[in-house]
Amino acid sequence: MNEILIKNTTLVQVREPNISILKGESLRKLPILENAWIRCQGDRILDFGTMDSCPSDDGQVIDAKGRFVFPSWCDSHTHLVFAAYREQEFVQRISGMSYAEIAAKGGGILNSARRLRAMSEDELFEAAHQRLEQLIKSGTGAIEIKSGYGLSAEGELKMLRVIKRLKAVSPIPIKASFLGAHALPAAYKEDRKGYMDLLINELLPVIAEEQLADYIDIFCEKGFFSVAEAERMMEAGNKHGLRAKIHTNQFNSMGGIEAAVAHKALSVDHLEVVNEAEISALANSDVIPTLLPSAPFFLQDHYPPARQLIEAGLPLCLASDFNPGTSPSGKMAFVVALACIKMKMLPEEAINAATFNGAAALELENDFGSITKGKKANLFITKPMPSIAYIPYGFTEEIVDQVVINGQLLSKLSV
Ligand SMILES: [Zn+2]
Repeated sequence: MNEILIKNTTLVQVREPNISILKGESLRKLPILENAWIRCQGDRILDFGTMDSCPSDDGQVIDAKGRFVFPSWCDSHTHLVFAAYREQEFVQRISGMSYAEIAAKGGGILNSARRLRAMSEDELFEAAHQRLEQLIKSGTGAIEIKSGYGLSAEGELKMLRVIKRLKAVSPIPIKASFLGAHALPAAYKEDRKGYMDLLINELLPVIAEEQLADYIDIFCEKGFFSVAEAERMMEAGNKHGLRAKIHTNQFNSMGGIEAAVAHKALSVDHLEVVNEAEISALANSDVIPTLLPSAPFFLQDHYPPARQLIEAGLPLCLASDFNPGTSPSGKMAFVVALACIKMKMLPEEAINAATFNGAAALELENDFGSITKGKKANLFITKPMPSIAYIPYGFTEEIVDQVVINGQLLSKLSV
């Protein structure tokens, strides 16, 4: 059986099994084991300890002096499957157009949908597979991917089938979310109900039958979908066993959070705009607030009030929102940096939110998100750095040196 021993290192995010999501003050505690070793056997973490108990090993040994071993990032919100980047719209925004204006002129999500329709399933798969490989190299070890650029029965199924193919070849776990209600397609401009009926009555049964999704999502926002539509979608998803992870409160407070709480959603994602009543609703629920700071960074918008959410005792999760319109980067180390620089999260809080809590937002916390005996050996080894605070501090630095996935060094994996 494959074995790796990493020694003379500092282990980050060392946890006992079966802990629950990290909330409020507990986000500040990031357990670290210095002068340590860790041994992986097969695809699991077998054991770890301090160097005075370091086992001798005949297998592969990595001396990681001055370097840190982290559990892989768990990125619980991405739109990794898309046809093309949208750098023209980026230039339009620099020239003064708003995201809403670009969307109203057929840009934005509708632009992605047009391009996706023109691309074959194979081409779409290849492009997404390459992006996934890049993300794994940057330290991501579990990921969620949404549909939502199909915006037709055929297009949405094409995306979800691409995600299913990615799941089959990916060395890291992938969770799929059905986001048919990402934007209203032009063909249904005068028939909102018709589009919702199509998604719920025609598409959802096929998705459930072919097991194409794990979660249901909707973009609950002015100009996109209403709270009533979000409620209808979450209810329909729940009937097919798909829990909700919804986009809400990106630009406006409309009641999406309360609706998500009522429908026992797994997470509410974005929350750039959030009020006291919504924070209280979250505090009395198990819904995970997921912040995506790359999006307000790229849109020059304001950031979610992370400190206020933490002080209310909430569990926070950080994810990349990788997508071609508002966050063309899936780099989780940069998300952690933004969380610290722009939202005043402590490095410990941001790392907890991007690892353990990210795993919880994917319902994978029993196997991923921490250095725990018996968990999957998805880890990364950093370059030499002075402390964990260097990750957000050295925000342009490529800190990931080596990646271990399923107990094997990435160079030995064919991803
Ligand atoms: Zn998103």
